Amino acid sequence: MNLLRKVFVSGTVTSALAVLAYAQMAPLKPDLPPEKWTGKTILLIGAHADDDALSHGTLALLEAHGNQVYVLTLTTGNVGTQDPRLSRTQLAEIRRQEEIAALKDLGIPAEHYINLGYDDGLLEFEDRKAVVENLVRWIRKLRPDVLFAWDPGKVYQRWHKSDHRAAAYLAADAARAAMWRLLFEGQITQEGLKEFMVPEYMLYNDTDYQDENIWVDITGFVEQRVNADSQYISQFGPGWKNYNATPSEAEMQGMKAWARDRIRTRDGHPVEGFRYYRGLPDSLGK
Ligand SMILES: [Zn+2]
Repeated sequence: MNLLRKVFVSGTVTSALAVLAYAQMAPLKPDLPPEKWTGKTILLIGAHADDDALSHGTLALLEAHGNQVYVLTLTTGNVGTQDPRLSRTQLAEIRRQEEIAALKDLGIPAEHYINLGYDDGLLEFEDRKAVVENLVRWIRKLRPDVLFAWDPGKVYQRWHKSDHRAAAYLAADAARAAMWRLLFEGQITQEGLKEFMVPEYMLYNDTDYQDENIWVDITGFVEQRVNADSQYISQFGPGWKNYNATPSEAEMQGMKAWARDRIRTRDGHPVEGFRYYRGLPDSLGK
């Protein structure tokens, strides 16, 4: 006899409603905390090389615990610099090398870095259907147990700077489209892929943290995060204005100190916070 039937038989309708109300109010939590996840496929979607930096401690922890971690970046990062000497092509190459070096510090192999090659700064003006189709292909190929993405907002649309804003919605829209076998059907009939519903989400954010409902304790992975974050020489520190592939020892120390300072704490532990969600992608805002 299931719980509801038991309540109806032995009790009243009001107690049954109370059970239902409780089920709806219960905080959304994973079956096991992320610190205990193992054997999962993890996909992080971001706009730029370094968007994953907000999750570096968590990614290092997951990789160390026997999960397969993939990072997919939508743009090449070929615009964001204040150094007047760098061309777009040079910048795209630098950003790729920096990302691969950062992932290496986290234990994630270079083959797990996917870049879709869109131009930095213009993601929201790309053909949305084509971008979603590309993302759907990767979701159907990798079949992630957990998708990390910019948080598009819970209930209300969240403000992010342009590429982040676009990436948040593109990732959510792709997760939704991936589950419908008749959407981008050619991937199924011609490419041997199968529809797939992403079951769990870890949504990240860098503007405010009010919707966070899970904090991953990254104790033991702080040094990996600091080292990885310090690989983005062209983005953080003096390389932003005057890029030099081999910064001085003092400059590197400065970058590491900055990276260490960015780490948040909760109850005395270093943490990374997320909005955890599980269920139908259509209800991501609930
Ligand atoms: Zn970014």
